[in-house]
Amino acid sequence: MTRKLLLDVDTGIDDALAITYALSQKAGDLIAVSTIFGNTELKTATKNTLDLLSLFGREDIPVYPGASHPWEKEEWIVNEHLHRIHGYNGIGDVRLPSSSKKAEEESAPDAMIRLCREYQKDLTLVCVGPLTNLADALKKDEEALHLCEKIVIMGGALTIRGNATPYSEANIHNDPEAAKYVLESDLPLVLIGLDVTLKTIITGSDIASWKEIDTDKSELLYGAAAYYYTGEFGDVIGGAMHDPLAYACALYPELIKDSLPICLTVDLEGESRGRTVTDRDLLNKEHKTTQYALDVDEKAFLDSFTSSIRDILR
Ligand code: CA
Repeated sequence: MTRKLLLDVDTGIDDALAITYALSQKAGDLIAVSTIFGNTELKTATKNTLDLLSLFGREDIPVYPGASHPWEKEEWIVNEHLHRIHGYNGIGDVRLPSSSKKAEEESAPDAMIRLCREYQKDLTLVCVGPLTNLADALKKDEEALHLCEKIVIMGGALTIRGNATPYSEANIHNDPEAAKYVLESDLPLVLIGLDVTLKTIITGSDIASWKEIDTDKSELLYGAAAYYYTGEFGDVIGGAMHDPLAYACALYPELIKDSLPICLTVDLEGESRGRTVTDRDLLNKEHKTTQYALDVDEKAFLDSFTSSIRDILR
């Protein structure tokens, strides 16, 4: 049976690239997308996701909205820093045609639970935003989540400094309490953190090659990617592949060349808030729940990514 995947996103430009890559991969069947606050507000992430699926003629894939703010906050305010990275509309201020399709009534955590029960080991969850939806699902029905094959997360920084603070990676940083709840659970987790995403670099010329395809799709995706990957002198320089790499590692686990079996938690106090780290109790746990990626075959991934994106944009 073709592997089924649920992708949890805060779309977000690199989320948009991950969704596009997911649609291009016949080895996996993207059966659901759930949305969350993060790079942008929940409602914007949901709209971007619906519009992007529609652009590729995949309105058949249901979109389930989830958390609009972290556990410890009442709301999520998108700051200027995020606007600079993702644009005011979350996708580099590119205007995607509006989808006529609406998001589902069912919430993201409820959809995760239902699909875990339905597909069990045939289903992989891939979470590339803050972990609030996953934590809510875990809190509500831990038994259901244990039924899926594994959960692949874009998150964490173990051997490298963070990108939100010197200690913390952005997805973990955006809801450290939820991330701690997930990481301390017994779920089978695979973490694709900055340790590997920052060595998986798409070039400016790869991105520029999409523009030459000259279709509506290529124009729009190029516009979003160019916004995200533009350097300080205004040219498209490329950069790290965060979310698409996580999806690829879920579908093609052989891309992970080295990983550390570990039990992690998240620091909540002081300047290290959001840091992914272990502690004395977790260090001595016999069963290591997390596979933390330390090395990937970035060349194999980038070859697959760039050729698949060019194909789907034609
Ligand atoms: Ca994301």
